[in-house]
Amino acid sequence: GEKKSLNFIEQAIENDLKEGKNGSRLQTRFPPEPNGYLHIGHAKAICMDFGVAQKYGGVCNLRFDDTNPVKEDTEYVDSIMEDIQWLGFQWKNIYYASDYFQHLWDFAVELIKEGKAYIDEQSAEEIAKQKGTPTQPGVNSPYRDRPIEESLTLFHQMNTGEIEEGAMVLRAKIDMAHSNMHFRDPIIYRVIKHPHHRTGTTWKAYPMYDFAHGQSDYFEGVTHSICTLEFEVHRPLYDYFVDELIETPLATEAGYRPRQMEFNRLNLTYTVMSKRKLLALVKEGLVNGWDDPRMPTICGYRRRGYSPESIRKFIDMIGYTKYEALNDVSLLEAAVREDLNTRATRVSAVLNPVKLIITNYPENTVEQMEAINNPEDPEAGSHMIEFSRELWMEREDFMEDAPKKYFRMTPGQEVRLKNAYIVKCTGCKKDENGEITEVYCEYDPNTRSGMPDSNRKVKGTLHWLSCAHCLPAEVRLYDRLFKVENPGTETEADFRELLNPDSLKVLTNCYVEKYLAELKPLSYLQFQRIGYFNIDKESTPDKLIFNAQ
Ligand code: ATP
Ligand code: MG
Ligand code: MG
Repeated sequence: GEKKSLNFIEQAIENDLKEGKNGSRLQTRFPPEPNGYLHIGHAKAICMDFGVAQKYGGVCNLRFDDTNPVKEDTEYVDSIMEDIQWLGFQWKNIYYASDYFQHLWDFAVELIKEGKAYIDEQSAEEIAKQKGTPTQPGVNSPYRDRPIEESLTLFHQMNTGEIEEGAMVLRAKIDMAHSNMHFRDPIIYRVIKHPHHRTGTTWKAYPMYDFAHGQSDYFEGVTHSICTLEFEVHRPLYDYFVDELIETPLATEAGYRPRQMEFNRLNLTYTVMSKRKLLALVKEGLVNGWDDPRMPTICGYRRRGYSPESIRKFIDMIGYTKYEALNDVSLLEAAVREDLNTRATRVSAVLNPVKLIITNYPENTVEQMEAINNPEDPEAGSHMIEFSRELWMEREDFMEDAPKKYFRMTPGQEVRLKNAYIVKCTGCKKDENGEITEVYCEYDPNTRSGMPDSNRKVKGTLHWLSCAHCLPAEVRLYDRLFKVENPGTETEADFRELLNPDSLKVLTNCYVEKYLAELKPLSYLQFQRIGYFNIDKESTPDKLIFNAQ
């Protein structure tokens, strides 16, 4: 096959391995914060982190970045594991940033002892005000030069519960005039009294992202810490802390150090990727849970009937660069259709039914017609579908006074009933409002598939279901969740007002083949002539429910 060129991260990794960096070892991690369900943006990171490990014989671990107990929960931990595996990846080990709380604490104590960190008693707002601007130096905190012993004592009190939340923080003492704002004495510890989902009430002082992430990478032995572009400006600080850590007794293997690399985030049109906003949609009941098929979450796409292969293919198509972009959701939809074409079982469903009566067909006869499961896959076989005198057809497939090029059902015209006979329409019946209640036709017995006259040329082929042999069903049709292309950037506007009010349409009067009652939830289907569908997880034999892609 065609060899795909390497992306810039793969190139850099190949170089590092060739040069023997870190003993030519490759170790990555996927570091979700367990504060929400994974979305398709995370899938991009997952494909990278696990993908390069696979490609270069390295390992990728799953690390839960659980340094903020307020928003984290084991429900999220479980869903994250399920979604990664569904996407087709497997971690080597599971780690938690909370596993490193003691090490991180010890490192912070080292920094205080060396005069490289201090307790600041100002509020977060005051500290922010003193930060300065990129062109103007910041102002030193009045606590910056407090005695080391005092900082050590207060740091311990931050963790025992004696200090209130927000009353003090630990800051790294670096440079309030540094050209990189992240070096202006960043906050590295804060007090949070909310219990942690794993460590309970053991800790009350919690490390900030910049202090936890690089060090966690280091303790774990990560060689390439791949993240998204917004962390590029944090990289010098990442390196600074690693440099400091290497000089302490916490240092591990000599010569080893992790390297942070960044790629562009996935942003998708007509949806949002912020977990905060997705959580708000769920909490406020604006969608039906994290796995609502309109959500850009992995579980939402799964429930909607997207295959993991199609998501991976889409991520491969958009690629990895150093430039932020807005990816067109229609690319994802095209990847899904292309993939489902190869795997979806072809079945019949009538979403807007009207009765079709074959007036010259015997009343009590039932024939079994063969339906090919997937023309793209000969191994998929076929199944049988019952045919009888009274059928359901789509209301849209009949027109009493049709224009010339109408190739569907209209009086005087022949059409083929898929997998069955050629029929000629003879008329219809209407109620007092003019609504069509029945359509009539006559069949030609010599045109059953495989029979001599079956090759007769007719321009239209319609799908149908035998009224006595099909099952009622609910079908849910989805449109885009937001009505504007880029709701994510409209930060000031209330994003709730940008929701598409017509994103869900429920059809309750549909019929499907009996065959579908035997299929498992999440089975990939194509309703002939309509589109791709799957069986919803809420579907039961008594109430079949399908989702449209
Ligand atoms: P949010 O800011 O909405 O909470 P997050 O980026 O903080 O999202 P994490 O759980 O920390 O969410 O993300 C885990 C990993 O997934 C990180 O390495 C992050 O860079 C990556 N990631 C998150 N969103 C995207 C995205 N849209 N595109 C690519 N990677 C992403
Ligand atoms: Mg975040
Ligand atoms: Mg994060």
